[in-house]
Amino acid sequence: MAKNGVLAVAAVLLAAGSAWGGEGEQGWVSLFDGKSLRGWKAGANAGTFKVADGAIVANGPTSHLFYTGPVENALFTEFELKVDVMTREGSNGGIYFHTAYQESGWPGKGFEVQVNNSYTADPLKTGSLYGIRDVRQTIVGDDVWFTQHIIVRGNRVVVSVDGKQVVDWTAGDDRGRRRRALSNGTFALQGHDPGSTVCYRNIRVRPLPVIDWKLEDLHVHLKGGLTIEEAVADAQRRAVKFGVALNCGVGFPCQSDEGLHGFLRELDGQPVYKAIQGEGREWMTLVSREAMAKFDYIFTDSMTWTDDQGRRMRLWMPDEVFVNDKQQFMDMLVEQTVAIISNEPIDIYVNPTFLPAVIAGEYDILWTPERMMKVVRAAKEHQVAVEINSRFMLPSKAFILLCKAEGVKFTCGTNNGGRDDLGDLEYSKRMIRECGLTKENFFTPRPAGQRAVDRWKRQ
Ligand SMILES: [Zn+2]
Repeated sequence: MAKNGVLAVAAVLLAAGSAWGGEGEQGWVSLFDGKSLRGWKAGANAGTFKVADGAIVANGPTSHLFYTGPVENALFTEFELKVDVMTREGSNGGIYFHTAYQESGWPGKGFEVQVNNSYTADPLKTGSLYGIRDVRQTIVGDDVWFTQHIIVRGNRVVVSVDGKQVVDWTAGDDRGRRRRALSNGTFALQGHDPGSTVCYRNIRVRPLPVIDWKLEDLHVHLKGGLTIEEAVADAQRRAVKFGVALNCGVGFPCQSDEGLHGFLRELDGQPVYKAIQGEGREWMTLVSREAMAKFDYIFTDSMTWTDDQGRRMRLWMPDEVFVNDKQQFMDMLVEQTVAIISNEPIDIYVNPTFLPAVIAGEYDILWTPERMMKVVRAAKEHQVAVEINSRFMLPSKAFILLCKAEGVKFTCGTNNGGRDDLGDLEYSKRMIRECGLTKENFFTPRPAGQRAVDRWKRQ
């Protein structure tokens, strides 16, 4: 008992240490390129913000500059944020978190961490969690850079200024005057008034919990002129391993064993997985089992099928989609998806739960728990992994949680259309955090002899 107790304490300390970590640890991402306002957006009085000497300078009529760039799809729940700040005399500014873009006025959503070293009209000084935990003494001076460090973890917010902790607040403490709930959102920098000049630089975030294993993007295509050499270099830069897939099916570049073999030759010796994306339902008839078995894995989606009226639909092509009755369409889609997962030699179901544009807005209503469970059970029974797709931001969190509960494995995929949309798996990473997924929840390509094609019984 005693021994277990000691171990449990050690585990808690270890977890706390990694969660509250510090400088020099992995997982930090920059939100500001030092040169431009790319990834940032201001509404009214946007001219208040300029970039000079590697910093964002706020000076002018009241305006807020919101982060709207690609990192985590600009949606942060738990994180550490560090910003280097410098004020001029008599200036007011601030850093918001859990906020959302708005056209004008003071941000209505989220929390402000105050920046004010000598703006006398407001007694709340730098580091205040504005209106909730107020700091009334001046900690740093004007005309020097200091670091504002904000940590949001669970219900707790910790603010440090130049390494000195000034706020430690747990949401739910009712001493706060403003009852804003911790939720999620983006960051914003404040331009307070024409008399204030505040500079912000080295804006970096560390989304929590840190994903401490190497991610694999198993859905990469050499499309739009992207070469294998560029893809390999890109994977190295992103510290991600790629799986490169050849689209195989009627109307696609590969329609035979010859095509598969040519692709294998092209990728020979490259540090990537080699994959087949089956297209339409005919793909299995075009290539041999022997050729398929030479690939690391095979995947497909349920975006191409023939409906009960004999119409072949590609769900991403609006004029090929026929939805007379939404419920009936959904039942058909679920039936098709289950059949694909059950009958095709696939290791991964990709672009999962995709709906055509005409009904995509009703995703959460149409994908009922019963429908989701039919697909999840099929995936479980046939050991088919489910992709968390960053291009379409699919499937929903609800679907992922059902998969997790049933022990279905996941993969990450961008499904790029060319050179420019190979991303950093932002949706996948966000879902990993929000759904509490670990390395063990993820599929890794299986060795020869243990793949879906090896179990496959051709119908
Ligand atoms: Zn694809």
